[in-house]
Amino acid sequence: MEERYSRQILFSPIAEEGQRHISKSTVLIIGCGALGTAISETLVRAGVKKIILADRDYVEASNLQRQQLFTEEDARQKIPKVIAAKRRLVEIRSNVEIEVVLDHIDGEKMAKLVKGCDLLLDATDNFETRLTMNDIAWKYKIPWIYGACVGSTSISFSFIPGKTPCFQCLLPALPSVNETCDTAGIIAPAVQITASHQSAEALKWLSGNHDAMRTKMLTYDCWHNTSIEVGISRLQKSTCPTCGETPSYPALNREHETSFAVLCGRNTVQVIPEKNRLLTLEEVATVANRLNKSYKKTPYFIEMMMNDYRAIIFKNGRLLIHGLKDVQEGRKIYHQYFG
Ligand SMILES: [Zn+2]
Repeated sequence: MEERYSRQILFSPIAEEGQRHISKSTVLIIGCGALGTAISETLVRAGVKKIILADRDYVEASNLQRQQLFTEEDARQKIPKVIAAKRRLVEIRSNVEIEVVLDHIDGEKMAKLVKGCDLLLDATDNFETRLTMNDIAWKYKIPWIYGACVGSTSISFSFIPGKTPCFQCLLPALPSVNETCDTAGIIAPAVQITASHQSAEALKWLSGNHDAMRTKMLTYDCWHNTSIEVGISRLQKSTCPTCGETPSYPALNREHETSFAVLCGRNTVQVIPEKNRLLTLEEVATVANRLNKSYKKTPYFIEMMMNDYRAIIFKNGRLLIHGLKDVQEGRKIYHQYFG
């Protein structure tokens, strides 16, 4: 074994055998922002053979406070995140294999990417992609490690097909609007803590220490010094469409996922949220208040500016972003506001 892994091999639960497993493993990381850069660096240094990095965005100045692989020059040149990350990761370890995918990842694309992977890591910023990861994980029987952070709070859990409930089972217990880094801000330690919890779980899984995996969902707030560990095994439902007895994998059927479309001839992007996650006008008002944005509320809709665009959010959760023709931009704005 190489000298560079000597301290990790000295750690007895890993040892030489665990290191051999790690060095043969392939990991798919969805998202290459704050969590994706931190996790990929840790796993590259730990000796993972191959990392597939997927992200649709480019580096901006506001990323540099917490997205650890990026530089001012990357932001100046608006380098795609996966490209900038790969550049740095191969400097850290020259023999690592990095495959980059610069795209929005839907179920079809994820199914292709996940073939041959040992583990799926959540470093995304949105709910829609997490539901897709959840279905892919159960369909292909590969664990996925959920992680999210906002403000000073981090949350993480290892979803393991055949062992734990799935993300769908948790939906009724989760809020339909998540605070996001764009609405509530974030401090870098919350990122590092989340990424560390996810990376530790990844090393346990990849080194073959499956019994060491954490079985409770952990929420930790590094500013207010609180932590909550919740056992979620009771939430498992036999009728769950993903992990139940007759799975239909709803996120892999396009009609169930949040849909984004340009309305013909109207210069407007329409967003129809996933049906388990319809926004209410009260929730939209809460987000607007948090951002100090003025809005107009009628019995039927809320009108407000989202970035530079006039948006109408209807009672049934349907959302129109006017003055916009680019679906990807519409998708980005929607996830910025509502997670
Ligand atoms: Zn389930």
